[in-house]
Amino acid sequence: MLSRDDVFNELGIGPVWRLREQAPGEAAATAYTWDTLTEAVARCTACKLSATRTQGVLGTGDRNADWLIVGEAPGAEEDAQGEPFVGQAGKLLDAMLASIDLRRGDNVYITNVVKSRPPGNRDPEPDEIAACMPYLLAQVDLIRPKLILALGRVAAQTLLDSGETVGHLRGQLHRFNDIPLVVTYHPAYLLRNPTDKARAWEDLCLARRTMQSLTPDP
Ligand code: URA
Repeated sequence: MLSRDDVFNELGIGPVWRLREQAPGEAAATAYTWDTLTEAVARCTACKLSATRTQGVLGTGDRNADWLIVGEAPGAEEDAQGEPFVGQAGKLLDAMLASIDLRRGDNVYITNVVKSRPPGNRDPEPDEIAACMPYLLAQVDLIRPKLILALGRVAAQTLLDSGETVGHLRGQLHRFNDIPLVVTYHPAYLLRNPTDKARAWEDLCLARRTMQSLTPDP
């Protein structure tokens, strides 16, 4: 079986998610506007998930957010409603955000690595992640968040180009291009493993401290 890196290399998209260096003062360069990105995701047939999804789920929230939250892929409810994290995991995500005084849609943008639902809620496959990566890159480029919170293994490994577990990647500050990135457990995992909620809380506190250090007091 091909590894994820093999697939990325084969498709020639390994370096794509390293955004081009932006000169100081230069406007963000992106091939997409929000309108063209929305249209592209709605019409996308770049991978086999387009054959089974109800709709592409681009993301939700504040397009000028300081916080970008990245999950894995839409589940059944997200596929039906067209919004990420609206099921049980979404309720827990909202509670996690509230615990650090954040609210969905208010200085927060929520999306997934993969915009189409994998059938049976299986993990997205490497070629599906690779095909969807330009959309996440465009979102990062358009939003220019101050901090990224990666939820779970797929988001963490994809954004950090790593094969390490969440247990290994969490609890420390990373960078995605130049943007600080914190990894924590996926809320769906926490629903099954509530004893790890204490660790997730530590990660959220790390993220909040990092954001506070980046945002000058008014
Ligand atoms: N899990 C995810 O990773 N994303 C969603 O949108 C819903 C559940």
